[in-house]
Amino acid sequence: LNRRLAEFGTTIFAEMSALAVSTGSINLGQGFPDTDGPEEVREAAVRALRDGRGNQYPPGPGIPELRTAIAAHQLRRYGLSYDPDTEVLVTAGATEAIAASLLALLEPDDEVVALEPYYDSYAASIAMAGGRRVPVTLRPDDGGFRLDLDELRAAVTDRTRLLLINTPHNPTGTVLTRAELAAIAELAVERDLLVVTDEVYEHLVFDDAEHLPLATFPGMRERTVTIGSAGKTFSFTGWKVGWVTAAPELVSAVRAVKQFLTFVSAGPFQYAVAEALALPDAYFDGFRRDMRVRRDILAQGLTEAGFEVFRTAGTYFITTDIRPLGEKDGFAFCRALPERAGVVAVPNAVFYDDREAGAPFVRFAFCKREEVLREAAQRLRSM
Ligand code: PMP
Ligand code: GLN
Repeated sequence: LNRRLAEFGTTIFAEMSALAVSTGSINLGQGFPDTDGPEEVREAAVRALRDGRGNQYPPGPGIPELRTAIAAHQLRRYGLSYDPDTEVLVTAGATEAIAASLLALLEPDDEVVALEPYYDSYAASIAMAGGRRVPVTLRPDDGGFRLDLDELRAAVTDRTRLLLINTPHNPTGTVLTRAELAAIAELAVERDLLVVTDEVYEHLVFDDAEHLPLATFPGMRERTVTIGSAGKTFSFTGWKVGWVTAAPELVSAVRAVKQFLTFVSAGPFQYAVAEALALPDAYFDGFRRDMRVRRDILAQGLTEAGFEVFRTAGTYFITTDIRPLGEKDGFAFCRALPERAGVVAVPNAVFYDDREAGAPFVRFAFCKREEVLREAAQRLRSM
């Protein structure tokens, strides 16, 4: 592995999922649902395969049906209007969208200000693009993790090219508020920054939290690349269908890179996701309700097992502090947990440049069947 990428050997998700398999543990590490998405969407994929739609190279930017459905979704949910032909790009999951956006928009040594802890592919993608990451750390505050806007402002320099935002936020479960997003937008406009915003958990917000796309804030539509994923929204993480919506110059830059990463994304799944995006609001409401119940089961189990549990307003994840258990090193804790309790979790330290700052935090995924979460909670309580 070259020097730029030497620090990115194997992802923590691969390591922890392998550990779950080899020890027969319940896998609350890697975030993937253990129940597939809607039957009618699976049927749509089967129909496309059988009818020969998408079995040969689909159009590079994505099939027109899917681009139209993505644009319609952004309009219906958020009042954001995008031209399906020039302002929407289908990608191989959000992972490719992130990588292609950074490869397209960064010059060598450009600084990228990113929220920390950050989803692991951000650091690797910034490195692939030759950029420099500048983390702004979310810190425990009043039961959740919060962004310090002064720290964010202070992180921006003359070398900053873009802000990399993620809301709802993996791994903390923080959903940025209207006031925080407004401040981020003001900063981006004032310093003339591009913004890449990873909104893959847009439909997974709980209680009174609301997902507000950054692109809806004044001055943002023209400078924001917004990323979504059918993996998260429809529980088909294996299909690897994601997308980008942005102004035409930004989309064409990202598309130029995508051509040489994957050329196109898998065809039949695009037809199915186009149908999924048109599902009635009842689907999205039910999905959110189910996930909230699961969050509550896991949060209660973790609390009873002695963890400090941070509030999760969105995503698949709960972040905990293991210090009340007399532990302080999340890595060691997660490596021992399969033997101790038959459960796998992820040490948040892997999402930090400052590994010390992340050391006591451990992430558990609740996108699992209720009985699986209850069993995991039982095991953790009795460890
Ligand atoms: N961004 C975040 C914050 C994620 O949690 C994930 C998936 N776990 C991704 C991007 C990648 O999404 P995809 O599977 O669509 O590539
Ligand atoms: N995004 C998921 C997580 O954070 C997993 C994706 C992956 O394995 N790369 O757990």
